[in-house]
Amino acid sequence: MRSAVLGTGAVGQALAAKLVALGHDVAVATRDPQATLARTDPDALGNPPFNVWCQAHPDVELTTPPQATAQAELIVNATNGAGSLAMLELAGEENLSGKLLIDIANPLDFSHGMPPSLFVSNTDSLGEQIQRRFPQARVVKALNTMNCEVMVDPGKVPGEHDVFLCGDDPDAKRQATELLQRFGWPAARIIDLGAISSARGTEMYVALWLRLWGALGTGHFNIAVVRAEA
Ligand code: NAP
Repeated sequence: MRSAVLGTGAVGQALAAKLVALGHDVAVATRDPQATLARTDPDALGNPPFNVWCQAHPDVELTTPPQATAQAELIVNATNGAGSLAMLELAGEENLSGKLLIDIANPLDFSHGMPPSLFVSNTDSLGEQIQRRFPQARVVKALNTMNCEVMVDPGKVPGEHDVFLCGDDPDAKRQATELLQRFGWPAARIIDLGAISSARGTEMYVALWLRLWGALGTGHFNIAVVRAEA
């Protein structure tokens, strides 16, 4: 399957590598491929520049948003939340139409320092903004409640724990569920929260996730929902 990953950060790298390992033909989209390859500085978290990752993943094509998405059946949004709509605009509405769009981005606002706040919350969400702007895309919000290494390798956290998804298109959610199972998520630990408006809940959880990250000193943790016996 041809897949496009929008975003060259740690999440884009993790998702692109996993999709390649699963046999997908993967293109990673960046605004300016030459500029991205020319970067030599590590990112804010100390991760090596994209060109180091690129050399280790020669099967992945780095290209522009419209070229990455034109032939893609699956699109992953792994861009900075503040730039997500802009990157999707660059991809072009016609290249998103009818396609499964897995949105992993969180609407983080770093303008008031650390920890970041959210630039949309409570009565709206980034997932809904994306679905409203691109009504023909089949948006599924998923995986945004955990560290990117856990997204593609749930075994990084011991025991049983959960991944959430939400979206307005039942068939898109079925496709996303199948993909999550191929990532290693057991069917019973994939919780469908309902419509895309449920992205408000998963995006607002990031405020707690960030404090847990600080308190625990590791990103390798996740939510395990404990239920009473039926
Ligand atoms: P990031 O640094 O948040 O985002 C990098 C990507 O965002 C780059 O590809 C960049 O495009 C694009 N971007 C930045 N500003 C833009 C703008 N104004 N217009 C268009 N594109 C713009 O990378 P990340 O840490 O991998 O996170 C990706 C997303 O996943 C974020 O929304 C984050 O909140 C969410 N998330 C991250 C984690 C995690 O483990 N890191 C976990 C859960 C959710 P160029 O390549 O063109 O520079």
